[in-house]
Amino acid sequence: MPCIAKVAVNDATIHFDKLYSYLVPPDFSESLWPGSIVLVPFGRGNHPRMAVVLEVGAEEAPDPRLKSLLAAAPEKARLTPDLLELVHFLKDRYFCTWYEAVKAVIPYGAQYQPGMENGKPVLKSRLTRTLETVYALVGELPEKPKPGARQIQAVEALRAGPCTKSALEAQGISSSTLNGLCQKGILKTEQRDKSLDLFADIPFDPQPLELSPEQQTAYDQLEQDLLSGQTRAALLHGVTGSGKTAVFLKLIEKTLAQGRRALVLVPEISLTPQMTRRLKSMFGSRLAVQHSALNNTERLLQWRMIQNGDADIVIGTRSAIFSPLQNIGLIILDEEQEHTYQSESAPRYSAHDVAKKRAMMEHSLLLFSSATPRTETYHAAISSRMRLVTLTHRYGGRPLPTVDFIDMRAELAAGNPREVSQRMVQELAANLQRGEQSILLLNRRGYQTVGMCGTCGHVLKCPNCSVPLVYHKAQHALLCHYCGHRVSPVPGLCPECGGKIVYSGFGTQKVEEELAELLPGTRILRMDQDSTMQKNAHEKMLARFAKQEYDILLGTQMVAKGLDFGNVTLVGVLGIDSLLFGQGFRSYENVFSLITQVVGRGGRAELPGRALIQTAVPDHPVLQLAAAQDYPAFYQQEIMFRKFSLYPPFCSFCVVSFSGAQEMEVFQAARRFAAILGQQFATHPGQPLRVLGPTPMNIAMISGKYRYKLTLKCRNDAGFRTLMHAALDAYAAEKLPAKAGIALDFNSDGD
Ligand code: ADP
Ligand code: ZN
Repeated sequence: MPCIAKVAVNDATIHFDKLYSYLVPPDFSESLWPGSIVLVPFGRGNHPRMAVVLEVGAEEAPDPRLKSLLAAAPEKARLTPDLLELVHFLKDRYFCTWYEAVKAVIPYGAQYQPGMENGKPVLKSRLTRTLETVYALVGELPEKPKPGARQIQAVEALRAGPCTKSALEAQGISSSTLNGLCQKGILKTEQRDKSLDLFADIPFDPQPLELSPEQQTAYDQLEQDLLSGQTRAALLHGVTGSGKTAVFLKLIEKTLAQGRRALVLVPEISLTPQMTRRLKSMFGSRLAVQHSALNNTERLLQWRMIQNGDADIVIGTRSAIFSPLQNIGLIILDEEQEHTYQSESAPRYSAHDVAKKRAMMEHSLLLFSSATPRTETYHAAISSRMRLVTLTHRYGGRPLPTVDFIDMRAELAAGNPREVSQRMVQELAANLQRGEQSILLLNRRGYQTVGMCGTCGHVLKCPNCSVPLVYHKAQHALLCHYCGHRVSPVPGLCPECGGKIVYSGFGTQKVEEELAELLPGTRILRMDQDSTMQKNAHEKMLARFAKQEYDILLGTQMVAKGLDFGNVTLVGVLGIDSLLFGQGFRSYENVFSLITQVVGRGGRAELPGRALIQTAVPDHPVLQLAAAQDYPAFYQQEIMFRKFSLYPPFCSFCVVSFSGAQEMEVFQAARRFAAILGQQFATHPGQPLRVLGPTPMNIAMISGKYRYKLTLKCRNDAGFRTLMHAALDAYAAEKLPAKAGIALDFNSDGD
């Protein structure tokens, strides 16, 4: 009987992502499974396209017009059953295409792409340079002719075991020496996966970890869940500096002792070095990392190490949730409130939900950890849908930093034109004198944000996106933060009226300059997206700050979280007000969390800490609560707001966005989709749905495409998803003049 594979192809759209049937040539039929990656002829032109097999089976009388598969990737490229299950989960939950889900769960380096060989379409591995040559001793040097010193050295070096070419070269042994020895049959070579020990410099140096009584109580409760062997979820809510890390290090230890494995997620690349250091020194080298600052080869090799079962602990950022780790006993989401746990491109998944899914698949303990949990998470915890464990004190009885406000209205009235207030400068100077360090947070990168004409008020905007261009001093250019558009040299005159352009607003680079002027000789370390482009930049910078080579660490939100430096006693917050008046329903939560987190960076060791917040609205209730570091009080306010205005956790919030080149068509498509949705839901009156819009998105155009949105408040259950899928199918079947691209986002906070 002929064998048929049903596949989903690359580059589909969410409203046109069907399974296509192909005939499987006999020589593949043994090696094709659901999850296999294949190449198929697609469309009228039969162009080769990547696809994933979702079903295979024999069929009595298949359609004679079926085409045959062109090629199949090797067995090792196949999605494991676990990863395939996650692909199904992503597809169902987030309305992405099958192949988008495939690309999310497999790192770039492990993916295949179409290629040509001898005029035939084939699959090619994206990465090939992952092998290295290893030499092994298989014979002995003859006494005559007398061997050279290098030859003897090489043989001696290999007595203890095989060695890589690069390691031998590092000892001064050249490849010609090695080749000569191979020819004589004394050495042999082998190609192996490069084994990169990314953290060779971190010593394995386990120190006994003694929990404080409060930490111990927290641990004991979580240990019960861990040992239950059942799926459990818990929230570890502890004030900054309470030692949440200590608690989960102990949990990891227990997990490993049980013969199971642990997956640790952190929200930012900047936090991986610190966590890796702690984990490696405590647990040794069966540790793998997965994050986007690794190059593709490193990432692939670490991934293979996990796949081969050679890692017991995986640490990484969001996408590490897809690591092919088996037998997972514990999954930790550290700083779980961070929005970086949500993907902003398809598949628009939330690491929280994927973690829940994996915890269910593996019967693991899923632990969320934060000083300022998301409102939804805390709500779930206090309504006993997960265990709540609290740490109310800082480790060692240290006090939380004192918090004070600097009223920027008064600064302005007193005639200070700068962004850094006089009081802030004085306090920084005082710290400098005492040899203590400071952290300054300004959540805006760049220099002077925007250019505006002093005569006609025209703002210099990106031609492709409806956002102002941002001046970047180092590049002497205006840059668009959305599409990368670049204008250089920087215009001095208005293109509209010829008036003079005034650059105003401020970012990290501007503040760096102001500080250098105000506090000459101060060693300032600026950390933002621009200063951390180079490999390992975060790690190097933070290590130098830890060694006190700098006095002030100035940066965007990447300096606000998770860092632990004993000598930091002053934390300053600049420019927080714009976040406070942001649009999304999470803006208060974000501000509360950001301030609490950054304030918590101070006074973590012997020296007490203090924090200063510059604002024009010092009486704002959210700032007051953040200053008091009173999470429960903040939560009470926030949950009332969410309840009365109907926001999560009381509903699911989904933004359906439409984009295309013609504004009117995009708008019409959105309106038509709303109508289709209405018809679908009318057949199921029990399924709640509110639709708002269409309205232009906050950024109405990106990269030349107009953007409209519908905002849905719904209950995101199986019933909802069935109706939504039906609506997407109906939309696909419509004869609209031009179809707008459509995307669903359950992570948006209203944009
Ligand atoms: P959190 O993550 O809750 O903000 P950390 O885990 O970073 O707090 O702990 C704060 C500081 O206290 C760190 O310097 C940490 O090393 C120290 N600390 C916490 N618990 C312990 C413990 N049980 N033993 C030794 N040091 C601890
Ligand atoms: Zn742009």
